[in-house]
Amino acid sequence: VIEIGQPEHSAVTTCAYCGVGCSFKAEMRGEQVVRMVPYKDGKANHGHSCVKGRFAWGYATHRDRITKPMIRAKITDPWHEVSWDEAIAHTASEFKHIQAKYGRSSVGGITSSRCTNEETYLVQKLVRAGFGNNNVDTCARVCHSPTGYGLSQTFGTSAGTQDFDSVEQADVMLLIGANPTDGHPVFASRMKKRLREGAKLIVIDPRRIDLVRTPHVEAEYHLPIRPGTNVAILSAIAHVIVTENLIDADYIRERCDADAFAHWAEFVSQERNSPEALAATTGVDPELVRKAARLYATGGNGAIYYGLGITEHSQGTTAVMALANLAMATGNIGRVGVGVNPLRGQNNVQGSCDMGSFPHEYTGYRHVGTENVRESFEIDWGIKLDPEPGLRIPNMLDAAIDGTFMGLYIQGEDIAQSDPDIKHITAGLSAMECVVVQDLFLNETAQFAHVFLPGSTFLEKNGTFTNAERRIQRVRKVMTPKNGYEDWEITQLISNAVGFPMNYAHPSEIMDEVARLTPTFANVSFDLLDRVGSVQWPCNEAAPEGTPIMHIDHFVRGQGRFFVTEYVPTDEKTGPRYPLLLTTGRILSQYNVGAQTRRTENSAWHKEDLLEIHPHDAEQRGVTDGSWVKVASRSGEIALHAKVTERVAPGVVYTTFHHPMTMANIVTTDYSDWATNCPEYKVTAVQVSPSNGP
Ligand code: SF4
Repeated sequence: VIEIGQPEHSAVTTCAYCGVGCSFKAEMRGEQVVRMVPYKDGKANHGHSCVKGRFAWGYATHRDRITKPMIRAKITDPWHEVSWDEAIAHTASEFKHIQAKYGRSSVGGITSSRCTNEETYLVQKLVRAGFGNNNVDTCARVCHSPTGYGLSQTFGTSAGTQDFDSVEQADVMLLIGANPTDGHPVFASRMKKRLREGAKLIVIDPRRIDLVRTPHVEAEYHLPIRPGTNVAILSAIAHVIVTENLIDADYIRERCDADAFAHWAEFVSQERNSPEALAATTGVDPELVRKAARLYATGGNGAIYYGLGITEHSQGTTAVMALANLAMATGNIGRVGVGVNPLRGQNNVQGSCDMGSFPHEYTGYRHVGTENVRESFEIDWGIKLDPEPGLRIPNMLDAAIDGTFMGLYIQGEDIAQSDPDIKHITAGLSAMECVVVQDLFLNETAQFAHVFLPGSTFLEKNGTFTNAERRIQRVRKVMTPKNGYEDWEITQLISNAVGFPMNYAHPSEIMDEVARLTPTFANVSFDLLDRVGSVQWPCNEAAPEGTPIMHIDHFVRGQGRFFVTEYVPTDEKTGPRYPLLLTTGRILSQYNVGAQTRRTENSAWHKEDLLEIHPHDAEQRGVTDGSWVKVASRSGEIALHAKVTERVAPGVVYTTFHHPMTMANIVTTDYSDWATNCPEYKVTAVQVSPSNGP
């Protein structure tokens, strides 16, 4: 721990990195953080933290921070600093001019899962009420949008079913498409503790992640699937459970839609869905699949944990539904120790989705076309609202290239580094007449911006984050914003300037409005959070202090609904030119595009993204450990250093995406999930060859 004198004051706040949502006491000396102390009463972390959270403050005072607004006429011009008044007036004038020229739907906004609930709520309100359309989307589009759709269709609500504490009573954990040791370290520690107590673990992942075998913990089974075959392996597991009669028939009869179950059972029972029939597709030994299926179905409390390795596929939603099917078929929903639990990548993915940041949904996942819901917002906001869903992020970029979408307000998001098929992103951004970036640093997206509005860090603002277990926790201001404003205040200034008045004095008033308009948040307030520490939604009259476990007596949608989940291979194919499959992930010390972690003490670790390649594939190509390699796909090519390792299987290569010098998303494709457009980051056909460097 780096200490800078003795603290003078402190406040309890929430980590701004991953979806675990650890509580910290930020100990301050004046405007300087002295240290971040994991908070023992934090209900998500119980006094623990990882290396990211402990050093989560260095970027707040980093010299790279931009603290003055800047504008420029063309993206090739140099930036020049202006006053806040001038920047806001210029932004409003540009957006009004664009709408006058191209129509009301020619502008929109993107919110970020790094921002607070109150900030994301205000961005969607600005777009819907100030811009007069529903062209608002969130970066959850590119990570967990299939979770939202898949779980709402099967269970009736777009969220994980359990609290983290539930892991303490899990007997079997099925971990698929997630690497908690790196992505969700504090929760990984809780999983390991439970495994040391005797619980069993099934890992389904193309890579031999740490939890497959780490000191004192060893997975019972590791199913090393070929990237892109999640739905096939889940069909094979379901086939075993149904054909060997390992289902929980009483639970299904009492809790689920009988017809939907019958259709699903008939489908998965077909021989073509057996582990043997699908072995050539998944690459997994059928006997291993059978053993894993039997363990999950009969080993006691079965808890599923999954991550972006499930959602970021062309069948992301199908895979989420397939997981829900398994849990319902075995009666593993609705009590402590079981469930279907998405491990959210960013601190506030759950919250940004809850707050109505999708183009088709208001807060609480209610469709903009639902008349009585829309009317409640119209009455509260005093303005008529558009009943038609707006554009998703990729559609905004398509429309820009087509010349119909010309103005974009981006709060806390770096789509030019984080989103797939970067050529498409940059073409769309370049075509726009006014791109407004609100961020801490001049990120990659700012290269295409005409207005830069400096943002504030989590240490400089009040608000709330909602973690992966639906837990709403306070973010407390301990520093004066170096840029002059909290992010929600900037959105409010823009709204006032475009002609839709907002006059919140404090984010608690924004949360009061959310509670007033959202049945699942009806009881949430800053007062309640300050009194009880945190609550998990739904939090309303029926559950005044929140709901740790959902779907206890019945599913939110009434009866649980099985879906037939047919495996459809991705259109991204390997072949002689691109024979390897690239998949991507995270590493412990870095967070997403690294804009924050690269500017903290974490910068000492993992200074570059590496390409993991199996020794067999490396030898075939003359690639040695530590040498430069070129990774080429149909979308583009990048250069990075190779790491020769058996963590990946032959035919599979892997890298992280934390560093802009690598820009891993140059090579990823523009294929996306059929239901939500979530990009297929996890499967890209590539060739790897020796290189002299970038
Ligand atoms: Fe906790 Fe995640 Fe922050 Fe680490 S990065 S301290 S696990 S919230």
